[in-house]
Amino acid sequence: MVKTRTFISPHILVSRCIEFDHCRYNGDMITSHIVRKLKGDAEFIHVCPENDIGLGVPRDPVRIVRVEGENRLIQPATGRDVTEEMHRFSEAFLHSLPPIDGVILKTRSPSCGIKDVNVYPRPGRSAAIDKSAGFFAGAVQERFPLHPIEDEGRLRNVRIRDHFLTCIFTLSDFDRVETSGRPERLVRFHTRNKFLLMACNQRLQREMGTIIAHGGDQPFASAAAQYRERLLAALARAPPYTANINVLLHALGHVSGHLSRDEKALFLDSLEQYRQGYISICAPKNILKSWIVRFDDPYLGEQTFFAPFPDHLMEISEAETDRGRDFWG
Ligand code: SF4
Repeated sequence: MVKTRTFISPHILVSRCIEFDHCRYNGDMITSHIVRKLKGDAEFIHVCPENDIGLGVPRDPVRIVRVEGENRLIQPATGRDVTEEMHRFSEAFLHSLPPIDGVILKTRSPSCGIKDVNVYPRPGRSAAIDKSAGFFAGAVQERFPLHPIEDEGRLRNVRIRDHFLTCIFTLSDFDRVETSGRPERLVRFHTRNKFLLMACNQRLQREMGTIIAHGGDQPFASAAAQYRERLLAALARAPPYTANINVLLHALGHVSGHLSRDEKALFLDSLEQYRQGYISICAPKNILKSWIVRFDDPYLGEQTFFAPFPDHLMEISEAETDRGRDFWG
């Protein structure tokens, strides 16, 4: 049957103004449904770079200004240039961090925005001339080039959110394997993530298989480090729908011998609707899950592809459920 998966809490670095503190320049806090929900499932490390370099709350806002071809972090109201303070803080803070599995930063902030932050030609009133990453966010991306890093705005998109959740729970699972120091746990990790990795990147999945196969030729720490590098790279992009379809067909192959012609037709019809974009992947996945339970298939039952993160973190819009607002009331 489908194993009830035990999830390990991922460690997430988050901008403190998202659901943790009223530390924005004007004393505001940002709401984020997913961060609020994740509080029960993840360990958060929060940071407010502007506050932590001593700008205080409330404070005059800072902006990115291009000075002689170089982006600087400037507080227009006071004329202060805090670029060096921010660089020093970011460097020291990021090097003191314990291992993390993902990052959620505040969208479009000159410090925390991961992209699309306005760059101005002067501190005073002016139109933006360019876009960039915020100063702290840029340092985060440099320090963790392959880690899942998102902003709370992008996480409102269901596909981006689902993949981010998949990444952080896969990586937290891998952390546990890596710290165990036990090669057999790495083998088991690879086995239960086979379908997920197959959907994400088949080339890297094969390379990871080779590392496992030759695991005995080198110390565990070295094999695990090579495996982690490829795992991060494999998870860097969400699987395209075509890869998901291939994986679902592959899974069907494991149970098709038990199915009637009509059952197979029902599944293939559901897969076609997914291919056409009429339904989400949940429908064909759930049909398969019901067969995994019915035929008690332990191999499929432990595949993380079917349960990549805790179910209660899955969200669809109110309009797509029969819950919430009564549209006929
Ligand atoms: S965006 Fe970053 S620097 Fe600005 S208030 Fe939030 S945590 Fe602090």
